[in-house]
Amino acid sequence: MRFLHLLCRSIILFLAVTSGVSRSWAQGYPITPVAFTEVKVDDRFWGPRIETNRTVTIPYAFQQCVTTGRVRNFEIADSVLRGIIPKGAFCSRYGFDDSDVFKIIEGAAYSLHTTYDPRLDAYVDSLIVIIGRAQENDGYLYTMRTIDPEKSWAKERWVNDRAKSSHELYNAGHLYEAAVAHYAATKKRSLLNIALRNADLLCATFGPSGMHTVPGHQVTEIGLAKLFLVTGQRKYLDLAKFFLDERGHPKGELYNQDHLPVVDQREAIGHAVRAGYLYAGMADVAALTGDESYIRAIDAIWEDVVGTKLYVTGGTGAVGNIEGFGPPYDLPNLSAYCETCASIANVYWNFRMFLRHGDARYLDIVERVLYNSFLSGVGMSGDRFFYPNPLEAIKSRERSPWFACACCPSNIVRFIPSIPGYVYAHRRDTLFVNLFIGGSATVPFDGGAVSIRQSGEYPWQGNVAIAVDPGVAREFTVAVRIPGWAQGHPVPGNLYRYLESDSHVAFTVDGKPYPLEIDRGFLRIRRFWKPGDEIVLTLGMPARRVLAHEKVLADRGKVALERGPLVYCLEGPDAPDGHVLNLVLPDNAPLQSRFESNLLGGVEILHGSALATRRGAKGLITVERGRVVRAIPYYAWAHRGRSEMTVWPAREVKAAKPLPAPTIASTATLTTSGGEGSEAIVDQMLPKSSNDHGTPYFHWWPKKGTTEWVQLDFTKPETVRRVAVYWYDDTETGECRVPAGWRVLCRKGEEWKPIPSPSGYGVLKDRSNEVKFPPVKAAGIRLEIQLQEGWSAGVYEVWVK
Ligand SMILES: [Zn+2]
Repeated sequence: MRFLHLLCRSIILFLAVTSGVSRSWAQGYPITPVAFTEVKVDDRFWGPRIETNRTVTIPYAFQQCVTTGRVRNFEIADSVLRGIIPKGAFCSRYGFDDSDVFKIIEGAAYSLHTTYDPRLDAYVDSLIVIIGRAQENDGYLYTMRTIDPEKSWAKERWVNDRAKSSHELYNAGHLYEAAVAHYAATKKRSLLNIALRNADLLCATFGPSGMHTVPGHQVTEIGLAKLFLVTGQRKYLDLAKFFLDERGHPKGELYNQDHLPVVDQREAIGHAVRAGYLYAGMADVAALTGDESYIRAIDAIWEDVVGTKLYVTGGTGAVGNIEGFGPPYDLPNLSAYCETCASIANVYWNFRMFLRHGDARYLDIVERVLYNSFLSGVGMSGDRFFYPNPLEAIKSRERSPWFACACCPSNIVRFIPSIPGYVYAHRRDTLFVNLFIGGSATVPFDGGAVSIRQSGEYPWQGNVAIAVDPGVAREFTVAVRIPGWAQGHPVPGNLYRYLESDSHVAFTVDGKPYPLEIDRGFLRIRRFWKPGDEIVLTLGMPARRVLAHEKVLADRGKVALERGPLVYCLEGPDAPDGHVLNLVLPDNAPLQSRFESNLLGGVEILHGSALATRRGAKGLITVERGRVVRAIPYYAWAHRGRSEMTVWPAREVKAAKPLPAPTIASTATLTTSGGEGSEAIVDQMLPKSSNDHGTPYFHWWPKKGTTEWVQLDFTKPETVRRVAVYWYDDTETGECRVPAGWRVLCRKGEEWKPIPSPSGYGVLKDRSNEVKFPPVKAAGIRLEIQLQEGWSAGVYEVWVK
């Protein structure tokens, strides 16, 4: 019995070590992915991105962890533990900052396996030593608390995790994932031993007869499932299941999906990254335990997301202040959150759904996320990042070098080198081709390994050649995914549809055409394969127009553009006047595409003719025809400075945002005392209410209680008699309120003087607040605004007459 147990354990260990991480984590699923270690990418699109991640992003992110004190935190914790200092000062901001170091090690491990780099290997080893020294005797590892419990998010261990998200358990989850990756890639147990000591502490602490809680931020479940697969120790899987089953007992917050037992959940709710990790963890535990109740829940949740809560880019999480899901069909573009981490979590979840169900529709989501909402998150230079990835922008967005909360950059670091692991999979004698990424792979399946090689110009061209080499001729099935977009469906369900229904898919095997029979999204070719056989797939890639379900108010009268797997956007630098939100793309205006090798690293652009709208003096909208319009792939936006951008340009004049009429305010030079989004102040776009996230607004957040100003310097002295303001106020969702008060000053020479006899300064919500006064001649005006104590403020629009 004991011998058998040991034997099973060594087999699992052997599999984990020899076949790489993505094979090991997927044990228990009916379909097995071909591990990233078995896939060699030689792809003109992804190859350079993976190489940039290796040569730029990984060292850059490690350096950021040093300069921001994340590495120092481990060293200080070590000094405290050895009694050199009684307590210290945590150097960075968040209790989960340890997790960034773990995630970057995970990415470095994948990368080391693909391209060995002795310096990187040695650096990771040195970091692991530092991490190990920060671990307490019983396995606890959370530097913020070790450094100074009183000033930490966890004065007592674990008790703040569930409701206040101390992130002790979240850190642990990322530690386990990193440890498993590092072990699989390098065969070194150094980080794995640290992880196992920590996991043993968790197993001894939590459980039916121990402490009852759940991680405030999920990922622990995924990590524990991986530890089970590496060690064969059932207790880790049991704890993952325990953490799942405790959720909703007692009823906790919607925000972290603690409002209901997970098996009773049917809607995607709350924080989108937590949700994605939770659903992926449920899929893993279901695969490893055979418990179908998790699958019933995540199947329903998947329908909810894909049918009502998914952006056309594949992004999820519409609501910024909870970083999470909004109500069904509520998909604002300007304020879309679409956190980069949520895209990664969405890939994790959907790929597991494919491994479970074998249907290509889940891979359609994986591909959509990969080429669009995810890839937008990292600039081509590899050292600039987006946290939210909105679908519309006024001139306020550019990628950042880093973030105080650095979850997204560190997640990008670990995700990119793992992409090869999503390309192929197998089940008994069926070999799945999931994604079209050039390169070769060895697929270890029934009857011996099969070599496969893909080449082509995807995503720019739809011709893909797939060479299959079984060594010796034998019968099996090659299942090639025919993307939903190529069959006329942008996504499963009816949230989005193509305006045109044309689709063109053809294929040949050894030069002979075959009838196209698609089964659950796969073209299944069963035959005796012999060395030298080749499948040539042709997917038509016309420019396509996408329309959203009519319940998506934000997209009414609008159209998105796609070509192949790529979603496109219009961006300021491609418009002669820098404006794109005022453009209208009528349905009948033809669209062509061409490859521009010198633009944005080489991209296929779409081009055609549009209408341009402008507001006239009396508010009437004028339309100019024949405006040349160009669209670029969405992932490539924000590489040419801050500018306007939209994924959903208007297809009807009434849905466009016309350029403002020439008024005193719109022609003035506008300055503000800091704040974000000042161009909104004179754009003449009226919100539906003071909390309308579909209309651009300006805000001073996070400033609170201060005196601020908005200033308009006129092109020439003007006689002014009325000024009106529409205040932004996000009561119940944010920290902006109408101000405590305001006044108007006018400029005469160098002096600012209050206007005489004002009629009153309103601070009402959901309407414009107008102040009248006797005519004054001024070179400019300044609105001086007193923010309420403890609150910030914002402005949609200022009018001057
Ligand atoms: Zn993030």
